[in-house]
Amino acid sequence: MELTASELWSRILDSAKGGVPEQSFATWLAGTDALSLTDSELHVEAPSQFHVEWIEDKYGPSLTDAASQIVGRPLTLRFHARTDGPLPIDIPSVELGGEGWRDPAPEGAESEETADPDISSHLNERYTFKRFVVGNNNELAAAACEAVADKPARMYNPLFLYGGVGLGKTHLMHAIGNKALADNGASRIAYIPCEQFVNELVYAIRTGTTQAFRRKYRQVDVLFVDDIHFLEGKERTQEEFFHTFNALYDAKKQIVLASDRPPKELPGIEARLVSRFEWGLVADLKPPDYETRVAILRKKAADDGLILDDEVMDFIARSCTASVRELEGAVLKLLAYSSLTHREVTVDLARTALKGMIQGEGDGPRLDVDAIKQAVAEAWDVTVKDLTSKRRTKDVMIPRQTAMYLIRDLLDLPLAKIGDAFGGRDHSTVINSISRVEEALETDAEFRERFGNLRHAVLRR
Ligand code: ADP
Ligand code: MG
Repeated sequence: MELTASELWSRILDSAKGGVPEQSFATWLAGTDALSLTDSELHVEAPSQFHVEWIEDKYGPSLTDAASQIVGRPLTLRFHARTDGPLPIDIPSVELGGEGWRDPAPEGAESEETADPDISSHLNERYTFKRFVVGNNNELAAAACEAVADKPARMYNPLFLYGGVGLGKTHLMHAIGNKALADNGASRIAYIPCEQFVNELVYAIRTGTTQAFRRKYRQVDVLFVDDIHFLEGKERTQEEFFHTFNALYDAKKQIVLASDRPPKELPGIEARLVSRFEWGLVADLKPPDYETRVAILRKKAADDGLILDDEVMDFIARSCTASVRELEGAVLKLLAYSSLTHREVTVDLARTALKGMIQGEGDGPRLDVDAIKQAVAEAWDVTVKDLTSKRRTKDVMIPRQTAMYLIRDLLDLPLAKIGDAFGGRDHSTVINSISRVEEALETDAEFRERFGNLRHAVLRR
């Protein structure tokens, strides 16, 4: 019997219930919904990016295990934040004047006969160099990627891209793949998110099929592994990846990796891998400056046939500074709002539509790291300085951890940035702090109430 995505997901959740405390289940898993199911992937939506990362971190492996057991084949779970990118927003494509900005056909949709049974490249055709805007924030990375696409394994091997979320790493990887494929149709190309690599390996070990797994990844001409930081702490997979890397490298095949941090800042990855990551070229992507943001908006508008006047683009470019993904999200939201309310796209409309999404806009003072620190410090009667100090007494540790948790929850800042905001603490300290708060929320009713009031107060500021 074929299960639908929702049926499958509810069976997976049922089987997870036994192993997850009730409160955690309610907080993290109850608000999820299945989006779609392909042969190899189940897409699931969660309330926020914070939920996505939490679920992946804490429950990813056991949920994946349960999923694979239920369907009797390896299945990768993909979690999407409800506000994250175009996938969950269902706007008819006519409103967008084209099919840009939407996800392509689901992966795995290609016919079995035409696809190599073992490797399918999983490239997204929308992510090309033509659609990638080069600015001084990504110049080196873009040039290196073009060079690699032109001459795989000749220029920079491996090519290691790093940078924050939504800055174009995945786009560039696919662009290399698409170009290499177009220029040399025979190339065998595999793009794989690191998480999927881990899942497939776990499955191969369990079912005694590691040989097939090895063959699959050692026969390609170009291997892309995205979000390689996911390898941190996974020793068995690192060992396997080390051998895959060597086999490909020795055979003069191209390897391209992307990470949210440079190799040196991946403490949970063994030194021999880190040093290999640095053998070729390490290139970073930074957030786009104002001019690049405008250029990206112009390009997207032209590519997708959107009508956005200069004033509106200027407003969006000034308001969304963190990443390209944020820019795209703002435009999507604005267009959705305009079509739902039948109002023309103007700066006024943008101001209304994007309220809450845009920092510094809206009624109250803006919600930022300092505002959260201030609120937490007041609630615990300590100073903001105490929060960022090195003091490790309980009276400052609890508010400090709470502030980190709230910043992650409400602002969705990268862990490293949160660490920076607390006197240069590293990201594992931040993870630890978040876990402590999560624990306290589960076990300590008084804390839960205090926290609830504080969160409410912060949001109403
Ligand atoms: P990352 O992998 O770094 O998190 P992505 O590659 O997923 O980021 O990029 C997020 C979104 O922003 C994608 O839709 C991508 O097409 C778009 N994007 C990122 N950088 C650029 C750029 N320089 N020009 C055009 N679009 C971009
Ligand atoms: Mg990415």
